[in-house]
Amino acid sequence: MYPEILVKESKKLGIDLNNNQIKQFVVYYNLLEEWNKKINLTSITEFRSVQIKHFLDSLATFNSIPSILFNTGSLIDIGTGAGFPGIPLKIALPGLKLTLLESTKKKTYFLETVSKVLKLNSTTIINKRAEDLAHDINFREKYDLATVRAVGKLAMISELCLPFCKIGGKLLALKNPNIEYEIKNAEHAINLLGGKLGKTKNIKLTENKITSLIEVFKQKQTNNKYPRKPGIPKKYPL
Ligand code: SAM
Repeated sequence: MYPEILVKESKKLGIDLNNNQIKQFVVYYNLLEEWNKKINLTSITEFRSVQIKHFLDSLATFNSIPSILFNTGSLIDIGTGAGFPGIPLKIALPGLKLTLLESTKKKTYFLETVSKVLKLNSTTIINKRAEDLAHDINFREKYDLATVRAVGKLAMISELCLPFCKIGGKLLALKNPNIEYEIKNAEHAINLLGGKLGKTKNIKLTENKITSLIEVFKQKQTNNKYPRKPGIPKKYPL
């Protein structure tokens, strides 16, 4: 089993995967397939599709990652599910200090297994809701980068994610293209949370797949009243 499309396309993103990293991706795929029979992790299971829609989609963030993450920086992936985009980024950048946050316990067992089998160092897995963890001083405003994919609309995820970012850090939201309306609707929330909307970049991957990356810069401290109680950011977005 060789992830040909992943190796070829990640080169176009500027990532030259070595043999150990290639092996880690294959092992990660095998674990995903095996665990997906027991718990619902993903509807995408075919090897080629996983390479494109999960692995490469996660790595599409590579050129938007702050340079500090190439040395000592820290990343929190919020609502990581089966580890996307956090784990592919950790494989590509082994020095990363990674926190994977996921509210479903069963999924965190899967993440623990992947972390152990792939021997991922400096990786912390937390089974909590973002609305609760963001009020813990050990995690609040402690990260250079927060990533989030498929957790909700931009206004809602900004409330969940921006409190984790250091001032000077940023949030990267991975989306499908054509979300101008969603972005416009989130501007008020982003300002209220101490953020500033950056650029949206469309990254073209293979087979017409486009990943939209929305950057939100953390400029000011987030007021302690945010995020609000679990479920409120989704029900009543700012
Ligand atoms: N990011 C992954 C991906 O793109 O494949 C998973 C996406 S999945 C659709 C959304 C995940 O976010 C679920 O696993 C869910 O349990 C988790 N989640 C939703 N709301 C959350 C919250 N408030 N705090 C932490 N995790 C949350």
